[in-house]
Amino acid sequence: MTSQLRHIERPRASELPADALAFLGELSGPTAIHIEGRDPRRRRVATTLLHGNEPSGARAMHAWLREGAVPAVDALFVIANVEAALASPPFSHRSLPDRRDLNRCFLGPWADADERLAREILGVIRARPAEALIDLHNNTGHNPPYGVGVETTSEALQLVALFGDRFVWSHLTLGALMEAVRDLPSATVEVGRSGDPAADGVALRGLRSFLSADPLFTAGARPEVRILTTPMRVCLRRGLSVAVAEEGEGASSTADLTILADLDRHNFERVEAGTTLGYARGEGWPLELIDEDGRDRATTYFSLEGGVLRTRRPIIPIMITTDPRVAASDCLFYVVQEA
Ligand SMILES: [Zn+2]
Repeated sequence: MTSQLRHIERPRASELPADALAFLGELSGPTAIHIEGRDPRRRRVATTLLHGNEPSGARAMHAWLREGAVPAVDALFVIANVEAALASPPFSHRSLPDRRDLNRCFLGPWADADERLAREILGVIRARPAEALIDLHNNTGHNPPYGVGVETTSEALQLVALFGDRFVWSHLTLGALMEAVRDLPSATVEVGRSGDPAADGVALRGLRSFLSADPLFTAGARPEVRILTTPMRVCLRRGLSVAVAEEGEGASSTADLTILADLDRHNFERVEAGTTLGYARGEGWPLELIDEDGRDRATTYFSLEGGVLRTRRPIIPIMITTDPRVAASDCLFYVVQEA
């Protein structure tokens, strides 16, 4: 089996192109970068670009490499979906058109190219013991930076606190990287909206701290991080289409569901019962709300009357996307509760 993941030693800062996209062009494919630290007995791992349309983590790694700093311990960067990121126009493809969402492939069964790449990434992460792993992502909607993790351990919260002050405690089994590295302190960090310079800044500052702090963790510390739990996924029903209504526009005459463009203002806010979310065309329910046991709770949380979709009870929505392509291929948003 040919390897998809290329391994390189840390490039010299002076040899790196000034432009992050040119840097990715030189990598050309999935790459593991091995970086020597002051203490080579220990190691930390940062992964990014599991989604090609989420550039902040790769930009942060590129900027950090150009700074020429020596990390406290050895570091491994994995920059995964370089080909999707480079596909024209750059940073617009979550994955290549004929490929899968890489961050749904980490639990096997290693049957296709994406699952095999995921297995290679797990292999390089596990090749040596690591103190911690961070996985950097962007959203497509307007969100503050926040972490996602499978456990609310002191270490996970401390990792998230390097980037933001919110933590989504997830029990969903999706095949994400985090689900495959439960033996290691880890956090997925959503640093903000793709293309927003503020998100790039959050990623770079957090990455710097992650690599320079020594020790990385304060034993038992519980930083001030708001914990949200029990995420349920709000997804379009299979085969249906979605449109986004700009301010003042009504429902789309062709899409099955029209969502309001300013919905992402409500990310991480409590949305009261009776709030309009969008408009449905036709008779059936256009969406489902899947809880952690796989049950559809849509009719418990939403109402649909006269084609108007509203909240039936207060909810906290997160990760709302108003990009119709993402909404159709992944999900519209998640609903969480205060822990
Ligand atoms: Zn992502």
